[in-house]
Amino acid sequence: MFKKILIANRGEIALRVIRAAREMGIGSVAVHSTADSDAMHVRMADESVCIGPPSSQQSYLSIPSIIAACEITGAEAIHPGYGFLSENAGFVQILEDHGLTFIGPTAEHIRIMGDKITAKDTMKALGVPCVPGSEGGVPTLADAQRIGEEVGYPVIIKATAGGGGKGMKVAQTAKDMERAFQTARAEGKSNFGNDEVYIEKYLTTPRHIEIQVFGDGKGRAVHLGERDCSLQRRHQKVFEEAPGPSITPEERARIGKVCSDAVANINYIGAGTIEFLYENGEFYFIEMNTRLQVEHPVTEGIFGVDLVREQINVAAGLPMSFQQEDLEINGHAIEVRINAEKLPNFSPCPGRITQYHAPGGLGVRMDSALYAGYTIPPYYDSLIGKLIVHGRHRAEALARLERSLSELIVDGVDTTVPLFHALLQEPDVQSGNYNIHWLEHWLETHMGES
Ligand code: ADP
Repeated sequence: MFKKILIANRGEIALRVIRAAREMGIGSVAVHSTADSDAMHVRMADESVCIGPPSSQQSYLSIPSIIAACEITGAEAIHPGYGFLSENAGFVQILEDHGLTFIGPTAEHIRIMGDKITAKDTMKALGVPCVPGSEGGVPTLADAQRIGEEVGYPVIIKATAGGGGKGMKVAQTAKDMERAFQTARAEGKSNFGNDEVYIEKYLTTPRHIEIQVFGDGKGRAVHLGERDCSLQRRHQKVFEEAPGPSITPEERARIGKVCSDAVANINYIGAGTIEFLYENGEFYFIEMNTRLQVEHPVTEGIFGVDLVREQINVAAGLPMSFQQEDLEINGHAIEVRINAEKLPNFSPCPGRITQYHAPGGLGVRMDSALYAGYTIPPYYDSLIGKLIVHGRHRAEALARLERSLSELIVDGVDTTVPLFHALLQEPDVQSGNYNIHWLEHWLETHMGES
């Protein structure tokens, strides 16, 4: 086992990894930018190294600085968290070349799944059902128009290198195709340096269902059921739950096995998430994330496993601590993402936290790096906390969520907490009756969003 690991991230996810390391008796090294000298992850780690100025490009994304921090501190492995370098195949390759261990999949698997066209081809070949659409990339507008007619409108044009909801444009009719095609290409180029796009049928009322998989890198893999992350704003998840309210045990077993077999087949190592749209009883693959997800705690809640501990174990060459038959669902878990944002426009709201009180009690988990007196810097993501509740069933989890949201105090900045108070009053949220468009419609009517 490693003696010391470095966490190439910040905020709540850095704390999450430090906590797992500490329970395993492994030393932790935090890295931070000059804007994060007072951040909680720096205070909580055993050691810390300043790796650059506030800009992520020169700090959390600076590969030479992170490798230097490993050399200075003697850290043997790096946990990337999510975001930043977590899905950067080049980074993983460099670590391999330096004899450092990446706590995550191989560079090759990251590369395959990071390119959405290659990912789709690979999954299709492994027997995973996909959304109908173009075979591979669509080079010209004329091709796009032809495929639009073949597949049938509406269609979605997606940048193959896209992520985080960027580089995706819907064409409702043939008339929209030119603008959607050019915009998706331009966004792909400017955000990801790659203007290749592909086309999919745009599903009108799907749910977002994702399957958590885990592999040992030696041909063994399991699935840990699904998460329903359909409540989204601008393709970004805000509320996630497990198990999915619409998924039956038979469907879970069926799609779960398809997914665990697929990753076992490619000797996948560590945690991964296979994302699907789910409509009329059918699953359609959209992408695979080769990392720990923001919403992993809901899966941990219902299965009672520590996914980060498991990631560290398999990275160190140890076997997984569970097999498929050990994994049984216990109750229901829900996560809400608390962002420092001002409603109704969700504009970022950095600033000083004057008061902070985290909720507690049975079945409540607050993953956050906040403390009273902390100043949220303006340079990074606006996620400041995740409130995760677990109950014996969905109704109990919902009641617990409402109760714990009312205990939470974050003063000094605006947050998305009022949104969740309002959502919990909605009959559709209470009954789990929503699809990926539900929240956007709700925001339009309740907050004047367009
Ligand atoms: P990203 O990598 O940017 O997260 P995804 O491919 O995972 O992009 O898609 C993100 C979200 O966009 C999905 O959860 C869904 O809401 C929407 N979406 C993607 N593909 C389709 C599709 N074919 N039809 C309808 N909605 C889609």
